[in-house]
Amino acid sequence: MTRHTKIVATLGPASNTPQSLEKLLQAGVDVVRLNFSHGKAEDHIALASTVRQVAARIGRPVGILADLQGPKIRVGKFEDGKITLADGDRFILDARCELGNQERVGLDYKDLPHDVNAGNTLLLDDGRIVLEVERVIGHEIFTVVRHGGDLSNNKGINRQGGGLSAPALTAKDMDDIKTAAQIGADFVAVSFPKSASDMYMARQLVRAAGGHAMTIAKIERVEAVAALEEILDSSDGLMVARGDLAVEVGDAAVPSLQKRMIRMAREKNKLAITATQMMESMIHAPTPTRAEVSDVANAVLDGTDAVMLSAETAVGSYPVHTVESMARICLAAERSMQITLDREFLDRIFTRIDQSIAMSSLFAAYHLNVKAIAALTSTGSTALWMSRLNCGIPIFALTQESQSLTKMSLFRQVFPLLIDDVPDERESMRRDVEKRLIDAGVVVKGDLIVLTYGDRHGTSGGTNTMTIVRVGDHG
Ligand code: PGA
Ligand code: MN
Repeated sequence: MTRHTKIVATLGPASNTPQSLEKLLQAGVDVVRLNFSHGKAEDHIALASTVRQVAARIGRPVGILADLQGPKIRVGKFEDGKITLADGDRFILDARCELGNQERVGLDYKDLPHDVNAGNTLLLDDGRIVLEVERVIGHEIFTVVRHGGDLSNNKGINRQGGGLSAPALTAKDMDDIKTAAQIGADFVAVSFPKSASDMYMARQLVRAAGGHAMTIAKIERVEAVAALEEILDSSDGLMVARGDLAVEVGDAAVPSLQKRMIRMAREKNKLAITATQMMESMIHAPTPTRAEVSDVANAVLDGTDAVMLSAETAVGSYPVHTVESMARICLAAERSMQITLDREFLDRIFTRIDQSIAMSSLFAAYHLNVKAIAALTSTGSTALWMSRLNCGIPIFALTQESQSLTKMSLFRQVFPLLIDDVPDERESMRRDVEKRLIDAGVVVKGDLIVLTYGDRHGTSGGTNTMTIVRVGDHG
């Protein structure tokens, strides 16, 4: 229980049996990602229930993130499954083509010819193939191959600089939101949102389906970067979706955007996940590259809540190794961090009573250098606020709500603990919390802890009390 940064792992054939899942969770996965770009609703429902069973068996809260496919704009299929394009070849993207060949290929997004113009650059397969648009005639886009290579069925298309008009939430996404609600997903990630209204709509759809999920905006479009602030205001968090983002804005722009996004998320009391290619080489190798080690460590230093694995755990040959390596890198990076809470505090404005208690506790905990912060919380908000500034002290969030428990599994520095009941009377409540922290191996007699709670506990937004306790010191 010492690592503060959380690990999100995508499930797939390499990790979706109860046995492999158990090993993965034991290795340190905090949140699993169900990728709705693959599989049917029944598969996701069954997998989610396996996750819950395994998590219950090993006694760890594990969050579930449902990642919607979104309007991934793709080429169609080829007669032979794939073709090879050489530099200088002519190639046609044809909205009416059924089955592709060396000359042309179909499009699943039929409006693409309306969205592009002569001179545009189109990037296929995450930028591996580069096409320059020569002219658009009706349903056909005539291009010249600038960077050739193999092109196989259903590869994605991006336009450099963004500007494709496909709406963020497709009909499939709307169905998938219902499945996510049925599963009881803790997080729903929206792919390719362009504006705050995309995220607002996603939240409305989640609630209408009876879901309680927090909404995560995947920042992977040029338009989303421009509207970052408003998008965050209507979401619970963001994902630095570096795969598509790098294609749209250019790879060199991504590292500084990552820093800006994570900083803004924390300032706005929102969550941040850093994703894609973090441990890419470990799909095939048992050790990460030096560059990957640095990348994961830097995301931790940037302040991300979580680092995410995609193919590494979904289809990779070393899923457990990858998670263990990632955990190790996170821990070392956290230990190296300089903590300057006072300066960060100056820019914070808060007006709510519960938030003031959260912030005061953090400040006191930091200056007294207590062993742990314990927060009795029903919604998890107190823990969220406390975790937006790094005081270097673990936050134990005790809740009776199983939904809050699994949500908090994504919050950096927060360790959620499920409690069935807490005594009303103050002194017995204090003893009860102390006992839980002692049992969890977090504190020993004589340690200082900061404890927050509400007079009428169980009331959401009711936190109004902070107390500083020396463990075992009952007068
Ligand atoms: P994806 O999103 O894996 O669903 O494409 C993440 C990214 O684009 O980085
Ligand atoms: Mn993406």
